[in-house]
Amino acid sequence: MKISQCRVCKEEKLETVLEYGDVALADSFMNSEQDFKNEQKYPLRLCFCRNCSHLQIDEIIDPEILFRNYVYETGVSSSIIQFAKELYDEVLSFYRTIPSSGKPKVFEIASNDGTVLSVFKENDSEVFGVDPAENIVKIANNKGIDSIAEFFCFETAEKVVDLKGKFDVCLARNVIAHVKELHSVAKGIQTVLNENGFAVIEVPHLKTMFEELQYDQVFHEHIGFHSLDSIRRLFAFYDMEVVHVKELWIHGGSIRIFLQHKNGPRKTTQQVQDLLKAEEDLGLFDKTSWDGFAKRVLDHRVALKEELKRLKAENLNVAVYGASGKGQSLLQFCELDGSVIDYVVDKSSMKQGKFTPGTHLQVHSPSHIYEDLPDVILICAWNFADEIVKQEARFAELGGKFLHPLPMPHYLKA
Ligand SMILES: [Zn+2]
Repeated sequence: MKISQCRVCKEEKLETVLEYGDVALADSFMNSEQDFKNEQKYPLRLCFCRNCSHLQIDEIIDPEILFRNYVYETGVSSSIIQFAKELYDEVLSFYRTIPSSGKPKVFEIASNDGTVLSVFKENDSEVFGVDPAENIVKIANNKGIDSIAEFFCFETAEKVVDLKGKFDVCLARNVIAHVKELHSVAKGIQTVLNENGFAVIEVPHLKTMFEELQYDQVFHEHIGFHSLDSIRRLFAFYDMEVVHVKELWIHGGSIRIFLQHKNGPRKTTQQVQDLLKAEEDLGLFDKTSWDGFAKRVLDHRVALKEELKRLKAENLNVAVYGASGKGQSLLQFCELDGSVIDYVVDKSSMKQGKFTPGTHLQVHSPSHIYEDLPDVILICAWNFADEIVKQEARFAELGGKFLHPLPMPHYLKA
């Protein structure tokens, strides 16, 4: 469904920045070749709000279609477990910036398989999670992480408070960008927090997307592209204020934002003003900057296709590493199908044996690399590039090369 209202300010001021054409949903992997002919595609456009400068897509897919069987498991990547431990330390130290007793009571939105909450639980926090994917909530409950399968919104927040009371901390990692009812989620976050409570929100940062040309972040599951400014504007509707922010390298450059009720007990840190200024200085709130971004994207598509065609002309085999959403966005936007790519490898056993949406490439386990020995691996899961290069060091020893797609295609040193 096409929308005309901005997700953040609600004004009808959206303008298209970049056209992606008709695109298959990034998570709609197919079981067999018979499914190809029934594949659904939907228009995809990156838009800019002339009123509040928020970047977003204006084609919203029914979340029931998108997320009920979402196949991303948090626990799959070992670096994410390490990340959860660091998050725990930071949340605890922020909790203790005012006199606090005991361990914080923690609620997580989009708690997935419970990997993050399990670190809090091991450290004696009471925890509770909500996630829309029934199959993944089952995994979490089997691990002893108390969770329910629901889409989070204001009504869910009221139900959570009835069940469990209010919380000291509300975590929302990589969720704000995905939800259809953004205002309802923001109001829900305000609802679950007690008087001194705080929210910790992580979103891929618009600044990194702009600087590193991460146009593959744009797909139907990923509706909004946030700056600190857009989060600040959204939560101001619900009497919440940003008190701290930190830049992170996860999901390709994210920000972790701490918010409390307006005039809450914690003081705003200097980092907040500094980052708001950096966003403005970079031109993120200016439409002409985004027109320039779109032009760079079109040049990138030509460069990447040319490089892959050159490899094929030399009879070299190319595999893609990573079947994540952004990989499917890049492959589809650049039309990288079986004519230039041989297959995809991914660690998620839920994707192995299936075919990629739109481009119809078969997904194998990473061990397939050593059975087949391709000449080049295109790293679509580039936010894990260091980890992949380390793990697949043998591939490089055997003469293979790693191709990183962004910001312009380049080969990595092993
Ligand atoms: Zn707006």
